[in-house]
Amino acid sequence: MGLLTIGLDIGSTTSKAVLLADGQVVLARAILSSGTGTDGPDRVMAEVLRQGGISGERVDAVVVTGYGRTAYGGADSQMSEMSCHARGAAFLLPGVDVVVDIGGQDVKALALGPGGRLLDFVMNDKCAAGTGRFLELMARVLGVTPSELSELAAQAVEPVPISNICAVFAESEVISHLAAARSRADICAGVHRSVAKRTAGLLKRMRGAGIAGSMAMTGGVAANTDLVRRLEEELGAPVAVPPDAQAAGALGAALFAADIKHGDRDS
Ligand code: ADP
Repeated sequence: MGLLTIGLDIGSTTSKAVLLADGQVVLARAILSSGTGTDGPDRVMAEVLRQGGISGERVDAVVVTGYGRTAYGGADSQMSEMSCHARGAAFLLPGVDVVVDIGGQDVKALALGPGGRLLDFVMNDKCAAGTGRFLELMARVLGVTPSELSELAAQAVEPVPISNICAVFAESEVISHLAAARSRADICAGVHRSVAKRTAGLLKRMRGAGIAGSMAMTGGVAANTDLVRRLEEELGAPVAVPPDAQAAGALGAALFAADIKHGDRDS
């Protein structure tokens, strides 16, 4: 086996790790739903090594990214989430121009240059509006899990407009629609439409590649296919979701780790 690197993405809600061979082949990837401040990072590292059938000493370099990266001591280097998501998305979808990443507690719109280099970004990390956390709160009121939101919204007949973007007020709004006997599916579709509008607004604020080029979504929320479809409606353009969208940042970190070691070899 040649060069082995690991990218570790310590998110607000989830820890992700990707084991990469020679900066090209994904050997294993693991996702655990416990993020920064928990034992999630250590457990996800152990899990990706177990899946790859190798010991930690065999790994040439580890790059850590994500919200919890500064608190993690076991890596060779740190990289910003923006750069790692851009790099990972470009590896999975070569030539993609714009990436929107929706994670547990923030939303990032990234403009990419050649090879996935980050040209520009816009980010909402100030409040829960439009994030995975927002959708988790709405799911709880609607009596479903976050992964069931997509199926529920797909059954909608007439989405109910949701006007509040603040998670606390939107929750009250959803409760009032439930009290008025509106269908859960129509309310859920309304929630998705409101998140899609907000995400489209964020993309339009970005300079650089703008929204003219090819677009993709990464992050855990990209698994919500109804939301992706409604974002496509808002933008009037297709939005691709790569396989393993939630691990795109960890993959980018593993690719940067391979660069470090290739640099060592070349010098
Ligand atoms: P972070 O890096 O901030 O931890 P992630 O990109 O890992 O964020 O995404 C976590 C978010 O994705 C959570 O809010 C979670 O509810 C959501 N999520 C994970 N899986 C799914 C799914 N199958 N459907 C909808 N949402 C999901």
